[in-house]
Amino acid sequence: MFVQDELSKYIKSHPKSQKRWENAVKALAGGVSHNIRNLGLPTIGAFPPFICSAKNATVTDIDGITYDDYWGAHYAMITGYSNPAIQSLVTEQLERGWHLGTVLEDQVLLAEMLIHDNPGIEKVRYTTSGTEATMYATRLARAYTRKKKVIKAKCGWHGYGDPLLYDVSFPFKGKQTRGIFNEEKAKIITVDINNPDVELVINQHSKELAAIIVEPVLGGGGGFPVNPEFLKMLREETERHDIVLIFDEVITGYRFTYGLFQNELNVIPDISTMGKIIGGGFPCGAIGGRLDIIEQANPTLPDRVWVGGGTFSAYPLSMIAGRKLLSILKSSQSDYERINKIGTSLIQDLNRFFETENLPFIITGHKSLLNLHSLTRILDVYDPTTIVNNSDKKKETLTQLAMLNRQITGMHGIGALSFAHTDDQIKHLKQTIEEITPLISKADMSSF
Ligand code: PMP
Repeated sequence: MFVQDELSKYIKSHPKSQKRWENAVKALAGGVSHNIRNLGLPTIGAFPPFICSAKNATVTDIDGITYDDYWGAHYAMITGYSNPAIQSLVTEQLERGWHLGTVLEDQVLLAEMLIHDNPGIEKVRYTTSGTEATMYATRLARAYTRKKKVIKAKCGWHGYGDPLLYDVSFPFKGKQTRGIFNEEKAKIITVDINNPDVELVINQHSKELAAIIVEPVLGGGGGFPVNPEFLKMLREETERHDIVLIFDEVITGYRFTYGLFQNELNVIPDISTMGKIIGGGFPCGAIGGRLDIIEQANPTLPDRVWVGGGTFSAYPLSMIAGRKLLSILKSSQSDYERINKIGTSLIQDLNRFFETENLPFIITGHKSLLNLHSLTRILDVYDPTTIVNNSDKKKETLTQLAMLNRQITGMHGIGALSFAHTDDQIKHLKQTIEEITPLISKADMSSF
């Protein structure tokens, strides 16, 4: 009953999105250009809302419904949508031209900020996306060490590139997709985060290991924080065996405080990959790190490593917006503290609620990143692979639908907090989750 009521309420209130979705599936593979943007809704007979405008912490769809938004455009919009300071700079630049494909002052100025803010960044190369940044980071590491193997985390998400698309999600069969080499041929080894046995794996493969890549908080793969002691172990072992340590900070960079998360953890890798926030809401990726490793990309070197960036790399609007955003973030310590505190309390309070009410849900994440998992049962252990192996995808979709009906948009259950979220919005989010999760846990999804 609950499922049918939620479905009919949603479909009735979104006639324009429904029509647009019918056209979308004809024109685009699966109706989308990023797998997760359908919110899983087609699997239960619904469709995603088409958003047409966004301001602060809200988005509005083409049916005129305004939502509190926790997706923040793939976690990129940390100050909220349509920041007026960025908007006016970008508008000014539009008058002067937008894509130039040349060297630009702003490229240098943003790189100088990244270098200044982060002791681990001595040099930078831009890309257009985080996917490219991780792809080039592994290439630079392989070239530098003259070794081939790469260790990555199970549930680790580094974008869609071939080199790292292994063991991201259930059922953990190695390669994540058809169309790429199996893990043996691709020279990829996947490991469980926070497991001390990883040290043995590193030792066993050290002579062939070029790199270890890990997100300090696993993001897209489930929102799992990595234990700082584990990261320290990785740092020591990689130093001992001449292996390049890569932190993928595409999500965590400038997310919890001003600068990369590695500074707070006090574990500095050899290379960091960045994206999302540093582009100020425009397409951007970057690789930064040790001079001797990044400098291999210098095109004047006879044996340089080919690292492109591409037609739109260091896109002028991204550089301008990124610089402006970083300058705003630099004086936003109290905003960071506020959302970190709110996120930590939400994780604690809601997990306590699920435990008291005996509900098969858990919120994972760190500070302002929150991932709500619907589980097939209450678990004995809550490690990343057990959570992911027992996630109930249909109920996760139902959660998303029930949230939309209560004017909340999110992803992975919730998503990320921004400085623009008000206390009232947070209260509404918490009350909504407390209202819908008991109903969802009892819902019958057998017909889907
Ligand atoms: N690394 C991490 C940690 C990410 O979360 C993502 C994107 N979610 C990427 C890399 C890929 O970035 P992009 O989507 O910009 O290609």
